[in-house]
Amino acid sequence: MLSDAQISANLASVRDRVAAACEVVGRSPDGVRVLLATKTVPAERVAAAVRAGADLTGENRVQELAEKDAELSGLPVERHFIGHLQTNKVNQVLRYVTCVQSVDGVELADRLQRRLEALDATVDVLVQVNTSGEDSKFGVELASAAEVVRAVAKRDRLRVRGLMTIGLPAADVELARPSYRALRELRDQVRDDGLELPVLSMGMSGDLEVAVAEGATMVRVGSAVFGARS
Ligand SMILES: *Cc1c(COP(=O)(O)O)cnc(C)c1O
Repeated sequence: MLSDAQISANLASVRDRVAAACEVVGRSPDGVRVLLATKTVPAERVAAAVRAGADLTGENRVQELAEKDAELSGLPVERHFIGHLQTNKVNQVLRYVTCVQSVDGVELADRLQRRLEALDATVDVLVQVNTSGEDSKFGVELASAAEVVRAVAKRDRLRVRGLMTIGLPAADVELARPSYRALRELRDQVRDDGLELPVLSMGMSGDLEVAVAEGATMVRVGSAVFGARS
């Protein structure tokens, strides 16, 4: 486990990397939020990151959200869900998060919509797109993504804020670029149809520079802040 000081220094260096990547392409660093991916990270280490200034986290599993809730719910940090969401976990996940980044189809959107109607509430969502074509990846196929975004946007309890993708994990970060570019182009295409999607959630510890260059407005960083996962 990393010390408070190490987590703080790592967070600062991630912010420096984001700023440098923005500078290269003439973007303002204010346009890129850093989300800390906290899977497997103990709640008290997440709390240390919040003390160091982190204001946004993402969890992959509902169970981890539940386990860490007592320690994190009172802190000034926004929590998102970034993992594959099973429809039977919809009721639970809505207790913890303000945004579900991994909406990957109309069925899940309908389950969320029904639950939110019962709660008389709304939630932000991103549509997760499989931009790399890998079978193992969750997310909507690129070819049908625009259609799914439009369908999800019709569910009035879901506020579609943008798109999320997981790039191709590879030793050469350039291999992720086509994925990130495809997500931006999809956003532009949908915007031409009249739907604004301000959030592009893409880029991780290894390749955030490429994602920022391609227009990311949110990068999701885990190991660069918390160290390698066991
Ligand atoms: C783990 C994870 C990340 C962060 O990965 P790192 O390589 O540790 O930065 C980002 N997005 C998702 C969906 C993840 O599961």
